[in-house]
Amino acid sequence: MISIKSLYYHYPKSSMVLNDISANFERGNIYGLFGKNGEGKSTLLKIMSGLLYAKSGEYTVDHKSGLHRNARTLQRLFLVPEDFELSAVTIATYQKINGRFYPNFSKKQFYDLIAEFKLAPQHHIARLSFGQKKKVLIAFGIATNTPILLMDEPTNGLDIPSKSQFRKIMASIADENKCIIISTHQVRDLHSLINHILVLDEAKVVFDASLAKVSTEFWFGKPKSTEDSIIYTEAGFGGKSILPRGNKEETEVDLELLFSAVLTQNTVINTILKTNDHD
Ligand code: ADP
Repeated sequence: MISIKSLYYHYPKSSMVLNDISANFERGNIYGLFGKNGEGKSTLLKIMSGLLYAKSGEYTVDHKSGLHRNARTLQRLFLVPEDFELSAVTIATYQKINGRFYPNFSKKQFYDLIAEFKLAPQHHIARLSFGQKKKVLIAFGIATNTPILLMDEPTNGLDIPSKSQFRKIMASIADENKCIIISTHQVRDLHSLINHILVLDEAKVVFDASLAKVSTEFWFGKPKSTEDSIIYTEAGFGGKSILPRGNKEETEVDLELLFSAVLTQNTVINTILKTNDHD
């Protein structure tokens, strides 16, 4: 659905922020776009949503170039940005003004989500907290029903109950026609939600694999035998480690551990993925 090939980007006078980025995003998936702060996640999402122009490279949505801000591509995607300014109007007016730009916008779905977030149409956006404003935007983004939904650090500013509410809502709206990409530097916020992981580090994609593939190739837990070949372990995780799965039973993927491992051991991890890649 979305194809990115050899994309390069840097801001004026800055070093390369995206250096030869390639990735594919398919319908029916929720992608976690991981990376530490400042690794280019927002920049990539801004390029995908037409807010920034790549210096070079290809970006296509359903085989049509997405690098130019054409209305057809823009109507097919919605970006919930990390930082935003919302007009100083009521939630009701906000949806009236903005909903009409999206052919599949559902007022009912928007108001249902607003109610789920304990907000009401008559609430004045200017008087809401940052987290509440974010909820308005998340609800609006979902209600646009665009086939591509991009969310940049959507859980920033949400309290812990709201984060789990966010995960539940996102899981409930996912379907085989939607491609959802969510960036975060707090990987645990997307636990049990995503089914594909991409990690950006030092301007490159250093990891790109489905969770199913990760479960097939790696084992997460406390190794019983000292003979086991540990790929990554961290004291902070209580001895929990990542090992090649071999013949061991399947374990739940620990996203935080995987993320830390990818940042320090990505050559080992990618070698295992590639060696066993028979797809
Ligand atoms: P992330 O979303 O992963 O935190 P960003 O895409 O926001 O990262 O930023 C990537 C890099 O680009 C950072 O080094 C950041 O300082 C720099 N950057 C972001 N926006 C601008 C800008 N408008 N002008 C110059 N540099 C920028």
